Amino acid sequence: TITDHVRRRVVLKLSGEVFGGGAVGVDPNVVRSIAAQIASVVRTGIQVAVVIGGGNFFRGAELQRAGIDRARGDYMGMLGTVMNCLALQDFLEKEGIDTRVQSAISMAQVAEPYIPRRAIRHLEKGRVVIFGAGAGMPYFSTDTVAAQRALEIHADAVLMSKNGVDGVYTADPRTDPDAQKLDNVTFSEALRQGLRVVDAAAFSLCMDNGLPMVVFAAEGTDTIMRAVSGEKIGTLITT
Ligand code: UDP
Repeated sequence: TITDHVRRRVVLKLSGEVFGGGAVGVDPNVVRSIAAQIASVVRTGIQVAVVIGGGNFFRGAELQRAGIDRARGDYMGMLGTVMNCLALQDFLEKEGIDTRVQSAISMAQVAEPYIPRRAIRHLEKGRVVIFGAGAGMPYFSTDTVAAQRALEIHADAVLMSKNGVDGVYTADPRTDPDAQKLDNVTFSEALRQGLRVVDAAAFSLCMDNGLPMVVFAAEGTDTIMRAVSGEKIGTLITT
């Protein structure tokens, strides 16, 4: 299980859609409960860095279908992630957990710039670091950024909290009634079968660099803590 891999530091990816509670914007009750979960993981002594999506505001690919230039729409999506970061920071600090937001797009009034070595220092001091604005580059997803940040700050694993799906299936469970949930799978198998609950770029980065990943549902009680503790609530993906 994941506990064979996690010694000290994880990157947690949260989907933006979850933050919105099904609507556009931020649902404070959802963010408060996610912050409480992260705080309890931090109190066990595990260092937590967070990457948040922005799907509750904008996705570049969707804006493109509505006629907006793709790269510009992607920047709008990245700016949306920063609002989610600030909301999570606020609730984490109310939990008594020191938190720093580091943005890949400079905006000094609200966030530090992304400085990997400084992020590591924060984590070593028990602070949560939230990475905002994705990679700062259009045509990327926050899933891929979670894998990249995890590699750069030497995390032991990436925890992918997903909206509406509780792991990797043999087929798309929304369309195929025969789809079976997998407890364990390799990255190459997931890629070969086109199992796209996480995007292929994120899978490849983890595969090439031997970084384990857990995919689990955002919905449910204490799912973040249960995923870190190695409960079989999702899928463990390894090289
Ligand atoms: N985005 C981007 N580059 C990045 C990360 C995000 O262009 O490095 C944009 C992209 O348009 C994406 C949006 O920000 O659709 C929101 O992120 P994502 O879709 O990953 O959020 P989630 O689905 O996890 O809520």
